[in-house]
Amino acid sequence: MKEALLEAVTAIAAAMATRSERGRVADYIPELARVDPDHFGIAVVDADGDVAVAGDADAPFSIQSVSKVFALTLALGKIGDGLWRRVGREPSGNAFNSITQLEYEKGIPRNPFINAGALVVTDAILSGHTPKVALGEILRFLHFVADDETIFIDDKVAKSEQDTGFRNAALANYLRAFENLRNPVEMVLGVYFHHCAIAMSCRQLAMAGRYLAFGGRHPTAGGRVVSSERAKRINALMLTCGHYDGSGDFAFRVGIPAKSGVGGGILGVVPGKASIAVWSPGLDGQGNSLLGSEALEILSRRMGWSIFGD
Ligand code: GLN
Repeated sequence: MKEALLEAVTAIAAAMATRSERGRVADYIPELARVDPDHFGIAVVDADGDVAVAGDADAPFSIQSVSKVFALTLALGKIGDGLWRRVGREPSGNAFNSITQLEYEKGIPRNPFINAGALVVTDAILSGHTPKVALGEILRFLHFVADDETIFIDDKVAKSEQDTGFRNAALANYLRAFENLRNPVEMVLGVYFHHCAIAMSCRQLAMAGRYLAFGGRHPTAGGRVVSSERAKRINALMLTCGHYDGSGDFAFRVGIPAKSGVGGGILGVVPGKASIAVWSPGLDGQGNSLLGSEALEILSRRMGWSIFGD
């Protein structure tokens, strides 16, 4: 299996390097528009802790919405299932930054992974803290789950989004109008933009996802990050909502819980078997990595990793 896995990631990286249709890099955040679309990286950590990598697996990229998985984990740790009074658990079927959906649903975002939902999650983490302390908590959590203290926030990306994030500001103000944000809008946005601007490599991201792949446990530190029940539930949300209005298609093609970000990264979880990260900056029409999705589709087929059967 180890050799098969290494062969698979190597073949996938080689195949992806030849693709000319690579999608479009996100340009609504100016700093992300500068990223070279030719990058491709992949990293897989298996149940023994062995890591298979190929391509640009050690180059840091902006994890963007993948950070929403870690933010959700922290918010649930802090306020527990009470969070579900403020955020739903249904797929959205709409764009990740939809404003009309929030209006229809009277300020209760469909799920924690669309932007409106992630803003409520961020608000929950922020309560009782200064923005700086809240961000420190998120970063420390990542250092712990990834076993890596070099993970950092790219301030240039955060500022770039802060300067242009009018849509997120609209969502945050609207949430506040429905009293579903408790902290000042600017503070929630500041923390949100900064956790989206966390930079990680595929290797670091795959390491960070281990607690979701392996029943909530921290494989090296021992003990638990979350209960197995909570890990299962976060995985369920990743499967149903992790790719926004592309979640159904992703489940159909790939068949594993996964979360995408507009930086072109995807974290994928194969329960009991593997934590996977891929990165290719070009996006499809729903804002999900075009080649990243394809790479996961090939990997899941080759390894028989779809959760719906092999
Ligand atoms: N920071 C980005 C935004 O709010 C995250 C979106 C994403 O990765 N889908 O627009």
